[in-house]
Amino acid sequence: MPILAEYIWVDGTQPTAELRSKTRVLHDSALPKSTEVADLDTVDLSEFPEWGADGSSTQQAEGADSDIILKPASVCRDPFRPGHYLVMCEVFTGEGEVHSTNFRGDLRTVLEAGGAETDSWFGFEQEYTLFKIEGRPAGFPINGYPGPQGPYYCSVGSLNIAGRALYEDFLEAAVEAGLLISGVNFEVMPGQAEFQIGAGGPLKTSDHVWLARWILHRASEKYNLVVSFDPKPAKGDWNGAGMHTNFSTAAMRAPGGMAHIEAACKAMSERIEAHLETYGDRYEERLTGHHETCSYREFRWGVADRTASIRIPRAVGEVGYGYLEDRRPNANADPYRIAARMLRTVCGID
Ligand code: ADP
Ligand code: MN
Ligand code: MN
Ligand code: MN
Repeated sequence: MPILAEYIWVDGTQPTAELRSKTRVLHDSALPKSTEVADLDTVDLSEFPEWGADGSSTQQAEGADSDIILKPASVCRDPFRPGHYLVMCEVFTGEGEVHSTNFRGDLRTVLEAGGAETDSWFGFEQEYTLFKIEGRPAGFPINGYPGPQGPYYCSVGSLNIAGRALYEDFLEAAVEAGLLISGVNFEVMPGQAEFQIGAGGPLKTSDHVWLARWILHRASEKYNLVVSFDPKPAKGDWNGAGMHTNFSTAAMRAPGGMAHIEAACKAMSERIEAHLETYGDRYEERLTGHHETCSYREFRWGVADRTASIRIPRAVGEVGYGYLEDRRPNANADPYRIAARMLRTVCGID
């Protein structure tokens, strides 16, 4: 029985990149069945050959010179094809250069330039909204609006919850895949939910956010629901969708770490625009100063403050070390870009 490898990559769609994938059948492969691999980090990536794709169909090349190269970068189990693999790829040009849309390549550069020495961990809280195929958010009635926000966050029962079956399928699939998933919850707006990936190193955690997004999209097909990472999926008095980014370095995690957390906040306060630019299209629509956000025109940090740009969790404030939460990134942001930006700022690599 051959091994099926689903090659997944981030495309060049503007202003927000999308996922693409296609299947490679590996005959006579030396790879073990993925269900028999205990530690996915030990899988030999060289068993997955480089592959090409038509970049002119993914906003990554012109038609006359359309071949892009897909280089396998990390793998997980394919939860939809037991025993097989999902392969997260980096995109290279026909000349073998890191493609301009390949921000994983940029993150590797930052890590090589000193970013790796911080031994950083990331934890991404990916919010998303489910839409009915006809276009309204799941949980919104055909005409008008549901009752105001209040009961929906972390709730139970048919009056409050939409999309539970998909939410459960996704969770099971993400665990089966071997992702660094640490939890899921329903969110403040009906039809909205979140999954958390991490904490782990920058490359692996970012890879797993993209793999989890692919798994969620794939799982949604069965229910005719559409997964949206739109930062402001319903206009008006409804919460937007973000991707809070939890971040620490080894120094922040050790006793006395609060000084390093504060130094990172200070460094970020001097690079507000540079951060916002990498935090997802239309952040202005979400970072209004309402709905548990701080306005993008301000920059504040504080312990346990969910109206600040950066929150230092209460437990971190109490013990004096740990991590910070940048609440600004949008749901439609690219985790590779967020991680690269954060490390550039904290390590002074600009
Ligand atoms: P919130 O209270 O903001 O909703 P969540 O529980 O949804 O928080 O998410 C917190 C995230 O922070 C998790 O992904 C978790 O793994 C991550 N995290 C915990 N400790 C650290 C750390 N030291 N460095 C980076 N991320 C961390
Ligand atoms: Mn959360
Ligand atoms: Mn949330
Ligand atoms: Mn959060």
